[in-house]
Amino acid sequence: MRTAIYPGSFDPVTNGHLDIISRATKLFDKVIVLVSVNPIKPSSFSIQERKELLIKATSSLENVEIDSYDGLLIDYFNQKKADVIIKGLRAMSDFEYEFQMAMANKKLQGEAETIFLTASSENTFLSSSMVKQIAMFNGDISAFVPNCIHEQIKLRLKR
Ligand code: ADP
Repeated sequence: MRTAIYPGSFDPVTNGHLDIISRATKLFDKVIVLVSVNPIKPSSFSIQERKELLIKATSSLENVEIDSYDGLLIDYFNQKKADVIIKGLRAMSDFEYEFQMAMANKKLQGEAETIFLTASSENTFLSSSMVKQIAMFNGDISAFVPNCIHEQIKLRLKR
């Protein structure tokens, strides 16, 4: 049984995240999408809201679990006896930070391998912060977030 953990802010989940999740479900027996509490990064949605949106967005995928954690990723990784950490890479700009994180996690836990999945070409520009900016000015975000949660995100962000 191979378990992968896909950590992130998911504030909120976008089609880019969902693409990585569904591709990861084909590579691993179980994919845990982990809403991680980042004390430095300000967020718009509560942890509970982010989890609920993820649960709806992934309801058709059988081997996905949604969880949250406010400690060190590597402690969660050990607790779950996971095999791999999954990250999505959109552009070179993601690379430096993700590379550092992967190295740090490997120093903390020698067995923790990080696997990078490249973003699909239609999602390379897509980020949660872009979705939030468009929605706050009542722009159309329907092409950027899963259909089943589009209205909910729109209403929540409308000013
Ligand atoms: P952000 O706030 O930058 O949108 P998150 O912290 O929620 O991102 O991202 C979690 C993980 O998902 C990271 O590995 C990130 O690189 C990846 N990711 C974010 N957006 C996309 C996308 N559009 N396509 C592929 N991977 C993505």
